[in-house]
Amino acid sequence: MAPLKRLFVFDFDWTLIDADSDYFVFEHLNAELSKIQLNSIGKVQWTDLQQRLLGELFDRGISKEDIERTLSSIPFASERIEALTLMKEHDSDLYILSDANTVYIETILKAYKIDHLFTGILTNPASFNPQGRLNVTRYHGLDKPPHQCQLPCEPNLCKGLELQKLIDSQHYDQVIYMGDASNDFCPSTRLLRERGDLVLARQGLSLEQRIKERPELVQAEIIYWQDAKDVLEVTQDIFYGRDRLSGAGGVKLISSAASSTTSLSTMVESTVTSSSTTSSASSVVDSPIDDQVEPSSSVKVLSAVESSDSKMFAQAVKA
Ligand SMILES: [Mg+2]
Repeated sequence: MAPLKRLFVFDFDWTLIDADSDYFVFEHLNAELSKIQLNSIGKVQWTDLQQRLLGELFDRGISKEDIERTLSSIPFASERIEALTLMKEHDSDLYILSDANTVYIETILKAYKIDHLFTGILTNPASFNPQGRLNVTRYHGLDKPPHQCQLPCEPNLCKGLELQKLIDSQHYDQVIYMGDASNDFCPSTRLLRERGDLVLARQGLSLEQRIKERPELVQAEIIYWQDAKDVLEVTQDIFYGRDRLSGAGGVKLISSAASSTTSLSTMVESTVTSSSTTSSASSVVDSPIDDQVEPSSSVKVLSAVESSDSKMFAQAVKA
């Protein structure tokens, strides 16, 4: 019997990495522009805002190398790499479906030497011009008619539409979608319970909220996860069966929308706990560059909480 062919599709920010790449770049390269970015949330279309701010960043002397170095310093949890490798070893197709941009995602994947794991990346196109200015444009461009999705999708990208194209492109025995934000809700509604599809939703963020507001729209089983360790555990469950795990500490499997919602503040508290308790924290692969954000000292934990809060705010509103 042929092995099952699975399609895994991932959001990127706060799903494959524990950060918002759009926010991370400005936060680390220019505090003033970072503030403008946060203050503009909800007032300017997000991709258009990045395009404008990247122009300002270039005008202030920030180079291509500065941006690439900053992106390469974003930590990538080793458990996530292990999970992605496991999926690839089982001949699954792996896609990223993200509202970031091609340069950010490809730079980060290459920095961790994991770009070969992915079958494709669907996100806003971006490229550096010969002078080193990064340009980013909408995935669903202004030259096209609006996608007209009624669910909470941004005008530049309906992830549900793009996921459906992938699902229809060939036969898949199971489809797994992983995300965290409101714009991950539409793709979550495209999955089928009878195919054994799974939604892997990050606990306590806006995707969970959306699912609980409209539970009738999500047919697939929903698994809530908190960190990279949970993601690895779920992946092992998918390939080796859930029965291999017993007792406490396993990932919570929730197949209805009736579970309690973890608030953003709880999420931030759990970030503090995991940052300060190295024995239970997800480990992070060494960044290929020297100035990676170092883990846990009390000052760093405090600043991480402050910036996490802003970043979570950014990801929540931007979606
Ligand atoms: Mg996200």
